[in-house]
Amino acid sequence: MSARILNGNEIRDQIKSEVSAELKQLQESGIRPGLAVILVGNNPASEIYTRNKVKSCESLGIYSERLILPETTKTEELLIRVEELNRREEIDGILVQLPLPSQVDSKRVLLAVDPQKDVDGFHPVNLGNLLSQRPGLVPCTPAGILEILKRSGIPIEGQRAVVIGRSDIVGKPVALLLMHHNATVTICHSRTRDLPAVCREGDILVAALGKAGMVTAQYVKPGATVIDVGISQLTQLADVERFFSGNAKRMEEFEKKGATLIGDVDPASVMPVAGAITPVPGGVGPLTIAMLMVNTVRAARLRRAAYPAPVPS
Ligand code: NDP
Repeated sequence: MSARILNGNEIRDQIKSEVSAELKQLQESGIRPGLAVILVGNNPASEIYTRNKVKSCESLGIYSERLILPETTKTEELLIRVEELNRREEIDGILVQLPLPSQVDSKRVLLAVDPQKDVDGFHPVNLGNLLSQRPGLVPCTPAGILEILKRSGIPIEGQRAVVIGRSDIVGKPVALLLMHHNATVTICHSRTRDLPAVCREGDILVAALGKAGMVTAQYVKPGATVIDVGISQLTQLADVERFFSGNAKRMEEFEKKGATLIGDVDPASVMPVAGAITPVPGGVGPLTIAMLMVNTVRAARLRRAAYPAPVPS
């Protein structure tokens, strides 16, 4: 038996068409949501991520702009830019692409983003809202994971869920969301004893540890749903052969590009055991951008409802 593939691209398309319908409605009331993406420096992955985010906005008709700042940018300069965007009425969402260069105090910068415009959901106010189940902006990747589970008809309530990873961006918020949907949740990390045995308790296993192909069949309960959040690049032939031998498409891709992507899960090992699995690429990744679009529209609604335009006297 082989696991059912949970296709993130299809779910992304569903969500984007829902966002598109909502945007039309907003347009009728004269509102066009706007997103500003800040990129500092020359990180090639960040360059691609931010370009894709802006492209996705354009395809939906969300106003967007990308602010590109030099690698040498100091914390104070970045804070000034964030403050400017905080004040601009037509900007509903501000996203500071991480990682920032080492001289920048990332925490200070993220704290400076107006929580109402914090479409990444990383501000402590939004994380607090999530914790206490108040309306706010939820981090995109965790929100996307919940969409995959719900829209694929995977039961959450009463299930045992195991999350590997406790970052503020993925592990902790996805654990909270699963708990709020009445799963019984265990969070694992690098100090967890006998990780495979703990993981095997999960009806749902979320792997967000950033270790290429580490999760093998021995981590997976037969029939479990496995959500693979990790994104790593394999650039050595030996690694590609280890994970993808016999996979002509992957070997060809590696020959052409010199690299291929893998998640935290070893797909060849896990596929025969799991009940369902998200692929890499094409699983969680597409949802992250889709949920950014959702959050931008949500931010526009929340903020503009909270501060309605002054009634002309
Ligand atoms: P972090 O590095 O911030 O966190 C990794 C977590 O995994 C930590 O809690 C760490 O434990 C734990 N961990 C690391 N190694 C092990 C191990 N051997 N055994 C058990 N736990 C371990 O990563 P992020 O949460 O930011 O991202 C995780 C992965 O998800 C990355 O590959 C990233 O690229 C990817 N990602 C993908 C996204 C997408 O859109 N698909 C979006 C965001 C991230 P400890 O706390 O003890 O150090």
